[in-house]
Amino acid sequence: MKTTHERFWETKRLDELNFDEWEALCDGCGLCCLHRLQGEEEDDPILTTRVVCRCYDLARGCCGDYANRFERVEGCTQLTVERAAEFDWLPETCAYRLRHHGLPLPSWHPLISGSPQGAKQHGVPALGAVLETDEIDLEEYIID
Ligand code: SF4
Ligand code: SF4
Repeated sequence: MKTTHERFWETKRLDELNFDEWEALCDGCGLCCLHRLQGEEEDDPILTTRVVCRCYDLARGCCGDYANRFERVEGCTQLTVERAAEFDWLPETCAYRLRHHGLPLPSWHPLISGSPQGAKQHGVPALGAVLETDEIDLEEYIID
């Protein structure tokens, strides 16, 4: 395993992070696992719902099958530095989006607080999210 540098997220650019550092930057909020809706026009706003991917484990507050997520769920997206220009669909609190724009991580980020609790309080577990089903009407669950 490659080692991480102290406060690497402040001293290194996203494209300088090693694998472990890149993974550690994710706060685990799960907000990227919420379904989003967008109209047909390219500049239509992206609307977030509180319907979470059917693979999400609401009890544990994390992906239910992280290792196999790309095989399990069509559309589950690998965040890579090469796709940084697309990060603006992510929540404003997303650590990748923040660091892409050179902004600091929030004080509750696990890398700073040392605890995953803050991310849960600012993420899916605090939203009253519902799990995706075939029957669900996403438009009824828009939250912004
Ligand atoms: S929104 Fe960003 S920080 Fe939160 S779980 Fe997704 S990738 Fe990680
Ligand atoms: S497969 Fe896992 S990581 Fe991917 S969107 Fe679903 S819950 Fe999130």
